Amino acid sequence: MELVEERPYRFRIEPRGGMRVPGVVFASRALLADAEESLKQVVNVATLPGIVAASYAMPDIHWGYGFPIGGVAATDVDHGGVVSPGGVGFDISCGVRLLAADTDRRALEPALPAVMDGLDRAIPRGAGPGGVWHLTGPGQLERILQGGSRYAVEQGYGEERDLMRCEDGGAVADADVTRVSERARERGSGQVGSLGSANHFLEVQQVAEVYDETVAAAFGIAAGQVCVMIHCGSRGLGHQICTDHVRAMDRAMTRYGITVPDRQLACTPVHSPEGRAYLGAMAAAANYGRANRQLLSDAARRVFRSAAGTRLSLVYDVSHNLAKAETHTVAGRRRRLCVHRKGATRAFPPGHPDLPEDLREFGQPVLIPGTMGTASYVLTGVPGGDAFFSTCHGAGRVMSRHQAARAVTGTELRARLEAGGIAVRPRSLRGLSEETPEAYKDVGEVVAASESAGLCRTVARLVPLGVLKG
Ligand code: 5GP
Ligand code: MN
Ligand code: MN
Repeated sequence: MELVEERPYRFRIEPRGGMRVPGVVFASRALLADAEESLKQVVNVATLPGIVAASYAMPDIHWGYGFPIGGVAATDVDHGGVVSPGGVGFDISCGVRLLAADTDRRALEPALPAVMDGLDRAIPRGAGPGGVWHLTGPGQLERILQGGSRYAVEQGYGEERDLMRCEDGGAVADADVTRVSERARERGSGQVGSLGSANHFLEVQQVAEVYDETVAAAFGIAAGQVCVMIHCGSRGLGHQICTDHVRAMDRAMTRYGITVPDRQLACTPVHSPEGRAYLGAMAAAANYGRANRQLLSDAARRVFRSAAGTRLSLVYDVSHNLAKAETHTVAGRRRRLCVHRKGATRAFPPGHPDLPEDLREFGQPVLIPGTMGTASYVLTGVPGGDAFFSTCHGAGRVMSRHQAARAVTGTELRARLEAGGIAVRPRSLRGLSEETPEAYKDVGEVVAASESAGLCRTVARLVPLGVLKG
């Protein structure tokens, strides 16, 4: 793929063939070493009807279903812009939540094993069913799909303040539960309040370094402080919704005269019945994902309270797989856009009206998981950010799960982590080995590239003390 370096950390792929806009890739050459297949996906996305500005890729780009993971694409909804489920991904509204404890690492130390054992018991995880909530009936699932974290808080699983620190106040409007299939409901009903497997986790962390004291203080974190990071999404429900609507759009596309270079990019106009149906179901799944993170926070809070007498307050909750209706200025005009972020995090700048009042002058907290053996980061949005105010979402995989599992056994990895002072509570040793730190890019490099590209600013680095995996 021919990449033109426009400036350090920003490459351009000139439009050719069916591309309606250029590709813009934020990265270093080193981070793009094995990115050929995912760069082809950046090119494919640039052909979508109604796409504006560019088909963007973040420094953690890697191959995904249709769209690359680490991809951002916005379409103009008033000019035939499409929505594509592949641009959101199978784990709808997968995202990260960070809670800060009112204690530091040294004070927590004696209670840490009890905390980890408590979490091990309290946090449902693994590939199958099982969750914090056993639903009382189908009506309750509908209330989750409509109300997200807000509903969980109303039911006593959190504090009103939590909602101020959630993207969208904890619930997406416009969920259309009639567009959620019976199969999706079945898959979702037994998993409310569960982590899932693979790259999803709950981690106890320590703030290792603060790069911006003022912003960190506004977010509620300080050096040495204990934090809890939760990464999970909408489980089988989101997966089924993506499957259902990709199929429906694949059948409908030709009726709208749309052809795509890869069937995995199935899409229809935002204003088509299929587009609206997907967005309604996607919003329902997003609420499920948020309720999920809210319920797991509540479970973690109970454990910290009883095992360590410690309180956890929410720093922020933000998703990295979502399509959102946003208005942005493109080529001097205000336009209503459908912004797809897949494996990319929204990073609103200081002063943005959608930020909670107490954080508005500092920018949006952006939560970046790295690996269970290295580090994770807290970033913030910056004035004049790029790619519709988006940045990276993680370190990004470089090895397949299969390759990773061949590189190290779960037993070896657990021993290595424990020797490094990281407590491990895995459900499956095979699952653990698939997530070995070597399977990912260097998160420090990814974050540095994102900052150098002008997408965000680094606020703090967190290191793991204990990890729960599916
Ligand atoms: P994804 O949303 O693409 O599934 O994963 C996001 C990111 O989570 C990955 O790119 C990776 O950097 C990070 N990640 C995966 N497993 C772990 C873990 O156990 N701990 C931490 N801190 N990060 C992880
Ligand atoms: Mn996920
Ligand atoms: Mn995720």
